[in-house]
Amino acid sequence: MEYSGHDAGRLLERWKELASSGGWGTCLLAEAGEYPVFALQNKRSAAGETGGLYVSAGVHGDECAPPWALLQWAENLPSLFDEMPVVIIPCFNPVGLIENTRLNEEGLDLNRNFQNQNLPLIASWQSFLEEKQFMIAVNLHEDYDATGIYLYEISKDGSPGDRFLNSCQDLIPRETASSVDGSEFENGLLIHDDKAEDLRQIVEDDLGGGMPEAIYLYLNHARNSFTFETPSEMDMLRRIAAHQRFLEAVSEYLTKG
Ligand SMILES: [Zn+2]
Repeated sequence: MEYSGHDAGRLLERWKELASSGGWGTCLLAEAGEYPVFALQNKRSAAGETGGLYVSAGVHGDECAPPWALLQWAENLPSLFDEMPVVIIPCFNPVGLIENTRLNEEGLDLNRNFQNQNLPLIASWQSFLEEKQFMIAVNLHEDYDATGIYLYEISKDGSPGDRFLNSCQDLIPRETASSVDGSEFENGLLIHDDKAEDLRQIVEDDLGGGMPEAIYLYLNHARNSFTFETPSEMDMLRRIAAHQRFLEAVSEYLTKG
């Protein structure tokens, strides 16, 4: 695949081409520096259908494989685009991507601000999602301390997270550390308790009230929420391939069960 690392401009151009050729609806959420941050939705989502898939990438600008993997996955036109509603946020933090930093142009970690309606981007993201409910929400991230792939899962419908990791582990093995960022993992998987009050408590106690996208989506818009992480020191093409495989596994689960 042709990818250009931290070139957010090229990434967004290719998304615009894809959106117009695929008949996707585009919603400008906010401007970040000279770049637009937009949401895309297929016709089923625009028609107000519920269920289906939400995917975002590029919340942290120093994690550059996920936005390219998401683009490549979408350019291959998965069959689920015809079968169910799909919403994609191609790149939440284009300035961070260009500058190779976790934070956005205001020095904020967006992933601790998804409750923060004082940010125009978040306020319009929340209102874009207002009437939407998804079967699965996926957030794609990377971790420079990790040596393998890992996954946070919050789910109401069984627990497919292990199966999703299985589908990627021949590309990049699972993280072997039992503790990542202070949380206990088992074989690369952390399954959060799905009770809303417990999740709100985690946000208050461990994250200083800063709401991550995955928890906001689970509490408001998704039955199941997954945050997939690859080790960002590893070869870029392998990381892109792993994220793409993850999305393929989620698509297959949604379309075939
Ligand atoms: Zn991240």
